[in-house]
Amino acid sequence: MSIVTDAQNGKITEEMKTVATIEGLEPEFIRRGIAAGRIVIPLTPYRDVKHCGIGKGLTTKVNASIGTSSDISDVDMEIKKAIVAEEAGADTLMELSTGGDFLDIRKKVNDAVSLSVGCVPLYQAFIEAARKYGSIVDMKEDELFKATEDQAKLGTNFMAIHTGINRITVERLKIQGRYGGLCSRGGAFMTSWMLHNEKENPLYSEFDYLLEIMKEHEVTLSTGNGMRAGAVHDATDRAQIQELIMNAELADKAHKEGVQVIVEGPGHVPIDEIETNVKLMKSMSEDKPFYMLGPLVTDIAPGYDHIVTAIGASMSSAAGADFLCYVTPAEHLALPNIEDVRTGVMCSRIAAHIGDMIKLGKRDQDLAMARARSKLDWNAMYDIAIDPEHAKEIRNSRAPEDDDACTMCGDFCALKIVNKNYNLAK
Ligand code: SF4
Repeated sequence: MSIVTDAQNGKITEEMKTVATIEGLEPEFIRRGIAAGRIVIPLTPYRDVKHCGIGKGLTTKVNASIGTSSDISDVDMEIKKAIVAEEAGADTLMELSTGGDFLDIRKKVNDAVSLSVGCVPLYQAFIEAARKYGSIVDMKEDELFKATEDQAKLGTNFMAIHTGINRITVERLKIQGRYGGLCSRGGAFMTSWMLHNEKENPLYSEFDYLLEIMKEHEVTLSTGNGMRAGAVHDATDRAQIQELIMNAELADKAHKEGVQVIVEGPGHVPIDEIETNVKLMKSMSEDKPFYMLGPLVTDIAPGYDHIVTAIGASMSSAAGADFLCYVTPAEHLALPNIEDVRTGVMCSRIAAHIGDMIKLGKRDQDLAMARARSKLDWNAMYDIAIDPEHAKEIRNSRAPEDDDACTMCGDFCALKIVNKNYNLAK
């Protein structure tokens, strides 16, 4: 039995009730969504977490990714980043360490937060192979499945698994080529291993075995997007679409087996291709929850990629994406620090809200802000603000002489002038 089979049998579980309360919806709506594969609630039998629903009809969720690298492996710093991500309002956390002791870091991070945690288990398998045998291409297939199972047992709720990279996908990639190569570490590891060993991706060829592990440990499968473009000039190419076709088929299979499943999307995508990507994925996967990695809508703004992503993520969410992976100001430049994590979460939360204004018609907070602003009610404005502390900090750093207004217009505050001379209130 799984939450999917419970839902299909008409049973409303505690997790469904919790998500319904958070979303302000009927539990029956959540049950029907899970039964049909349109909604997931990432679970784990090994850890208590704040349950979070992702999928059609629910508010857009935000993931923050943290994790060590081979250059900077400071576990305490990653724990602090995880805590800051939760405090800043991330809905989920992905722990994506590629340096240090994988299982030790995961356990410590999982213990530090109450969020659902995701991971990419193939990092561990490939990097430990490099440490043990001298090269990632010498990884043994069994090590891939063992790392997946070991990480599941630590209370990991969802896993990005690169199931859709198969020989056909790689062939498409080689024939068409790329301007910007691959930006997915998982995609780079797996394609290199497949080409070196002249073998099929084990996560594709032994998908049934993978599903057994997912089922046994109640992990939600997130079909990884290893072929996502790392440059806007490569967006929506044959390799990306081929991988999406494979992932959509495998997602159907996973759902039929009672495994909750999310489908991941690109990447770097120009604005005029975002809606196409979302609609294509939703149509091919029969409305499975769509996890958008970014997308970045231009390649020429390093240092500002959190903003570049917020633009793409807003449009993705408005078009129907359900789950956004944040991007920090450090993207393409360095391992994010604590402030980068906080900024990245806030930017993606703004994007999620902008999308929900269109997708779900959620505009009540904007109306409340309009009213608070017209009354110059600063406390009400702070209460509604996505990041009240930041808003207060800016206002207080340049405090006005007149408490009503701010230092932008001072004595000539347009709102004060109107409020004094006539009534515009609706
Ligand atoms: S001073 Fe200007 S910017 Fe500040 S609240 Fe009044 S109208 Fe708005």
